[in-house]
Amino acid sequence: MITCNGNFAKLRASYLFSEIAARVSSFESGNPDRPPIKLGIGDVTRPLTDAAVQGLHAAADEMARAETFRGYGPEQGYRFLREAIVRRDFASRGAAIDPDEVFVSDGAKCDTGNFQELFAVDTVVAVPDPVYPVYVDTNVMAGRTGTWSNGRYDGLHYMAATPENGFVPPPPDQPVDLLYLCFPNNPTGATATAEQLQAYVDYARDAGALILFDAAYAEFIRDDSIPRSIFELPGAERCAVEFRSFSKTAGFTGLRCAYTVVPRAVAVADGSGGTVPLWDLWMRRQATKFNGASYPIQRAAAEMYGERGSAEIRELSDYYLANATIIRSAMEKLGFPCTGGINSPYVWIDGGRPSWDFFDDLLNRAGVVVTPGAGFGPAGEGFIRISAFNDRDRVEEAMDRISTSLA
Ligand SMILES: *Cc1c(COP(=O)(O)O)cnc(C)c1O
Repeated sequence: MITCNGNFAKLRASYLFSEIAARVSSFESGNPDRPPIKLGIGDVTRPLTDAAVQGLHAAADEMARAETFRGYGPEQGYRFLREAIVRRDFASRGAAIDPDEVFVSDGAKCDTGNFQELFAVDTVVAVPDPVYPVYVDTNVMAGRTGTWSNGRYDGLHYMAATPENGFVPPPPDQPVDLLYLCFPNNPTGATATAEQLQAYVDYARDAGALILFDAAYAEFIRDDSIPRSIFELPGAERCAVEFRSFSKTAGFTGLRCAYTVVPRAVAVADGSGGTVPLWDLWMRRQATKFNGASYPIQRAAAEMYGERGSAEIRELSDYYLANATIIRSAMEKLGFPCTGGINSPYVWIDGGRPSWDFFDDLLNRAGVVVTPGAGFGPAGEGFIRISAFNDRDRVEEAMDRISTSLA
């Protein structure tokens, strides 16, 4: 009989979301007249904007005519989209990125998950705690860890985000090869200043390490002094890769479009004394395993960079940010210390009790579903995450329910 990849056996069953689902469904069957409001999951609820829909329609019509039909597209994505990305997301922020350094894809989850396969199995990996689970689980699958114990995998270096460090952990105090960073952060909602990001870039330059920077929530930054891209920091173009997504920005979670920036100047050791451009490795990987995001989706994504699309994106992120403000001020009024919810769609709340106890209180007393922080790692214990991705009336009602039942 064929034997499975033993690394998969090390994976801890995805306890968090299945446990939430079980507790919610038991609440639902006991309270059929009191449907809970779900502020747990990180999915958007607002529909696509007019510009995106218009792009999809126009592309569908093109695909229907022989003269404008398109088959396989360029592996890196259509140039019209990569040029729009560079203009609006990088050049406008003073980051010198070339369209050839942009790789369009169908998701930042797959890109952040796939990228690790470019590196040796003995690569030393640092991840944040609490963490977006994709970074950890894909390294477990690749065999870079030992077994799971006390909420962590042996062999990974964890960078704890705590109230003491303002939820922005300092760079590791030991040499690592690969660092995953995510700002604005999921789950904590914390953002990093230019100074804090520069410390990471300097660390990576000194240690010969590579930073994988997940900026899926960059669009929610309103404070102009906070970098949206790691490439706003000098030196990052030699030691960092950045992931972006249209999912939370433009409501594309169901359409699927994202991109990854791999600067030409990043070089990694080739294992036999020389170096190899990281760009070559990622290009080879994508050309071998990926045939591009679909044309209609890339057309829709490009529309988001037009005048109308940009205004709509702004409006959409403003909408969720206003939800975040409502959540944060309600929770602060109840006396809970909060992080995030400003320049970020997530509010990270110190409940002063174990995460799952607070989860149960909010579910059973208020009928509101949140995410227990402990599910994202041991440093998340004692916290919950409330997501601003819901409709305004739902968020307002959820906060009313919480305020009445906990006051
Ligand atoms: C939602 C999210 C993404 C985006 O994933 P897609 O596959 O592009 O939908 C990436 N990173 C983080 C941290 C996220 O929360």
